[in-house]
Amino acid sequence: MPEDYYNILGVSREATDVEIKKAFYKKAHQYHPDKKNGDTEKFKKANEAYQVLSDKQKKSQYDQFGSTFDQAQAGGGGGNPFGGFGGAQGFNVNMEDFDLGDIFSSFFGGRQKTARQTSNAVPGNDISVDINIDFKDVYQGLEKELELYKKVKCSHCKGTSAEPGTKINTCSKCQGTGQVKRASQTMFGVFSRVSACPECQSQGKIPEQNCSQCSGQGRKQEYEKVEIEIPAGIKNGQTIEIRGRGEDGAKGGPSGNLYITVHLNPNKTFKREGDNLIYELPISFTQAALGDEVEIPTLDKKIVFKIPNGTQSHQKFEISSKGFPHLNGYGQGNLIIKTHLITPTKLSGKEKKLFYELTKLKGQATKPKESLFNKIFK
Ligand SMILES: [Zn+2]
Ligand SMILES: [Zn+2]
Repeated sequence: MPEDYYNILGVSREATDVEIKKAFYKKAHQYHPDKKNGDTEKFKKANEAYQVLSDKQKKSQYDQFGSTFDQAQAGGGGGNPFGGFGGAQGFNVNMEDFDLGDIFSSFFGGRQKTARQTSNAVPGNDISVDINIDFKDVYQGLEKELELYKKVKCSHCKGTSAEPGTKINTCSKCQGTGQVKRASQTMFGVFSRVSACPECQSQGKIPEQNCSQCSGQGRKQEYEKVEIEIPAGIKNGQTIEIRGRGEDGAKGGPSGNLYITVHLNPNKTFKREGDNLIYELPISFTQAALGDEVEIPTLDKKIVFKIPNGTQSHQKFEISSKGFPHLNGYGQGNLIIKTHLITPTKLSGKEKKLFYELTKLKGQATKPKESLFNKIFK
């Protein structure tokens, strides 16, 4: 089980970015393996927690999906529509964040910059898509097919860049390694540098004839259908990550990810507050005073609601488990009925008299002035 990232850093779930950063620095100092009482495991854990909690998107995924998706990802993620948290398991601290000096550079080996690109692999771009869904979709979950216009592996050459049936030769400049070494003499001695082979674009292979469909790029811009699954209980504005379903990479580069941001369409009947479903129920004076039985819609089927006598305007009644399912799959929110007292307008003379009679009852909060009533009934 992954531990709670907030616990690891010792901060509350409401902690600000600054508090999270501070807490991480403190833990990092405390557990740094070079310290006398350092603890590599704890240091790594603190780093892992910080990688997620310092990244706005990863943090919101973690807050909403819990760590189970991360686990699923780690275990192969079979059928899981969500990606994990990229890099959460990895061990890479963003050095730009640090001004702490030697303590970190000693552990991470200092700031190292790759002097030369040694591969020309082209990673696929990420794709971001916005979709609008209805209250019912949030209630039931939704499976949907998206059609995306994106760069995909060329089906003609299967990404090899070579026209099918033609030969692919091993690059003679790099002997198929994709890299070339260059030695240079400096005042400090001879240095050899490795860089991407310019002849074969680091592929190690050169097609005798470029693919006629993709001009040797290995990818083409095409429409592709992608099945997506929106889980029940998804929040408005939430983004789902589907790993590897962005654009395909080329020349051995990895595919990008697909990010789907969900927008909830407004609903005429209901409002949403967290996982609760809010329904405003208009009631008459009579229903408020005497009580009644009415039918109430839900996102499923109608239910019968008993208005108790003596109900006030803006009173709330909670009906358990008729709201949206929780995103974690356990339980669901409630249906909250808010009463709204409708004051009658355009009363007939007879109706006015009846209301006037009511003012004579005991227990009325206020009594209007007799003189005003005399005017009304004149
Ligand atoms: Zn091709
Ligand atoms: Zn080469």
